[in-house]
Amino acid sequence: MSASAVKTTCPYCGVGCGVNLSSRASNRVVPPVSGDKSHPANFGRLCVKGSSLAETITPKGRLLQPMINNKTVTWEAATDAISAKIKQVTEEFGPDAFAFYLSGQILTEDYYVANKLAKGFIGTANVDTNSRLCMASAVVGYKRAFGSDTVPCSYEDLELCDLLIMVGSNAAWTHPVLFQRISAAKAKRPDMKIVVIDPRRTATCDIADLHLSLKPGTDAAIFSYLLQDSAHEHLLDAEFVCTHTEGFDQALAQAEQSTPTLEATADFCGLAADSLLQLRDWWRSTPKTVTFYSQGVNQSSSGVDKCNAIINCHLATGRLGKVGAGPFSITGQPNAMGGREVGGLANQLAAHMDFATPGAIDLVQRFWQAPNMATENGLKAVDMFNAIEAGDIKVLWIMATNPMVSLPNTAQVKRALEKCELVIVSDYKMGTDTSAFADILLPATGWSEKDGTVTNSERRLSRQRGLLPPAGEAKHDWQAICDVATKLGFGEAFNFKGPHEIFAEHAALSGFENDGKRDFDISAFESITKQEYDALVPVQWPVNKANPQGTARMFTDKRFFTPSGKARFVPITPALPKQLPNDEYPFTLNTGRVRDQWHTMTRTGDAASLSRHLAQPFIEIHPEDAQSQGIKDKTLVKVFSPYGRALLKAKVTDAVAKGSVFVPIHWTQQFSNASIVSALIPSEVDPLSGQPESKHARVTLEPFKQV
Ligand code: SF4
Repeated sequence: MSASAVKTTCPYCGVGCGVNLSSRASNRVVPPVSGDKSHPANFGRLCVKGSSLAETITPKGRLLQPMINNKTVTWEAATDAISAKIKQVTEEFGPDAFAFYLSGQILTEDYYVANKLAKGFIGTANVDTNSRLCMASAVVGYKRAFGSDTVPCSYEDLELCDLLIMVGSNAAWTHPVLFQRISAAKAKRPDMKIVVIDPRRTATCDIADLHLSLKPGTDAAIFSYLLQDSAHEHLLDAEFVCTHTEGFDQALAQAEQSTPTLEATADFCGLAADSLLQLRDWWRSTPKTVTFYSQGVNQSSSGVDKCNAIINCHLATGRLGKVGAGPFSITGQPNAMGGREVGGLANQLAAHMDFATPGAIDLVQRFWQAPNMATENGLKAVDMFNAIEAGDIKVLWIMATNPMVSLPNTAQVKRALEKCELVIVSDYKMGTDTSAFADILLPATGWSEKDGTVTNSERRLSRQRGLLPPAGEAKHDWQAICDVATKLGFGEAFNFKGPHEIFAEHAALSGFENDGKRDFDISAFESITKQEYDALVPVQWPVNKANPQGTARMFTDKRFFTPSGKARFVPITPALPKQLPNDEYPFTLNTGRVRDQWHTMTRTGDAASLSRHLAQPFIEIHPEDAQSQGIKDKTLVKVFSPYGRALLKAKVTDAVAKGSVFVPIHWTQQFSNASIVSALIPSEVDPLSGQPESKHARVTLEPFKQV
């Protein structure tokens, strides 16, 4: 590689691919990118979104200066206004009158200072994130089972397993490079079995040996059945279950009661018995199994239980902590895991400690020398917006996310943003559906300018490196937060000279009084210099004295982070989605992503090449449903739910099951004058994780007739 080449990380999905630039960017132009052959996430591969990154670097629509009420102002004036309002509302109404709503797009260093300011210095735990929408259920599932939010596997396990069960994931479109790696492994070892569990027939099914098109939301029953079958067929890892787990008998008793037979389970899930039988036989005969799960599992009112139903099966048969085995949650966003590491969820404190972790509040307070420690959980995303609408939160700082498009029940989000006394939006773009509600707009650096770290779905820290100087007056999010913290009187604790200093402090906190008690530990970096930080190569945590080169697989020692050191089984009763179809709304709406767009299209919408795949929003409808509703392919359809309406073009296809429809999430009103699909989605959430049930809404359809 030439001396001027730069390595960075793709800003889109949770695969976290390494990206290579053969020469430095100049004149605000980024040269075409290629996959970094040395990056262990992708070994040189990129998907079409990653390959098109250079196309998205455009001055079009950039927010270049701070604005108050649509008037350009200086940073000084903007941060004066923000700090004055935060002071006023927190003095008058208490610290919980303030909230951050963050994003899996921001870097770990940005997240760290936001979390530190809110939880240690302002004194509120109202710090939540759009990552709540993609992986919160998986986090709680891991914590219930392992006592910690620990992803046990590595990507290579997807290639080394003999049976790969993909649940609620269209990885071919959502995590394309992992899909490429899996496809290549399958081509080399055709005996490797791949099972896709998904109500839709997606592109991922192209490499599957078996597709279980189950009734929406019934996933937990399949794993409940596999648990009891494993016990009855004497497939348990008895030594592991007896010595290293607890709660097996209760979980088994519940599984026997909920899913007593193969036939009963198949019936509950709407499956042919022989297809479930095939999965069962492969599960019985294949110890090297990875279960790969994503939003189809997590975005559910019983998402946590679904995760634990999966984990129960792996614990019972000892299929984790080994090469080619484990329950593997794949996150959607590039830094969903980095946010979790710093405590960037309302129910977390910092460094993978919760408020409920014994001694954690005192430990973090001492480490930060914090004057105003929050002492209990804050509000999760949907509850946060409820509290804003109720007038309890008066200042909201939104960073790098577009809740008007991504949160469920758009009408309610709009009411909340209108009610809020001060809405601050930090974004690199103008004109998002959310920034229309901002009182103060702060110009943020975007990918190609940001400098820091992200963590991908296999616990691998990776550097995003600045390729260009910030556009206009854009600042890094951590700088904007530190400026406000200083004006609030906390300058000494936020006097960071660069992201390497934030990273070093974050690393030191992860190792502070840790002694192996906590899973997240990157204390090997607590004295990292700027030069070392700049040269940081991708590495999987924990990275500490015991594991200086990082850690590929967790739980190889069969020791977990519960008080007893044992993993926990959780009794599961499979549940149906909250909003089942009825006479008025007879169809189940499922939502998801398309291959070439990312989230609300603020970046991918700028790359013309990415619109070639699918240029417009659509609704997939089964041919029989289309016929019964008088809807023809490629005609407009009115879609109604109890919460809102949308106008979409029909795509008549038997890829969706009869009674189900599918709509992608990306298109927005502001950018494309399209209906926002989340307007149709209810605010139902999983009671444990707070993750919205974005995959299940009830709707009715009507052909659009022009008058
Ligand atoms: Fe980027 Fe994900 Fe594509 Fe990799 S798979 S290039 S991380 S979008």
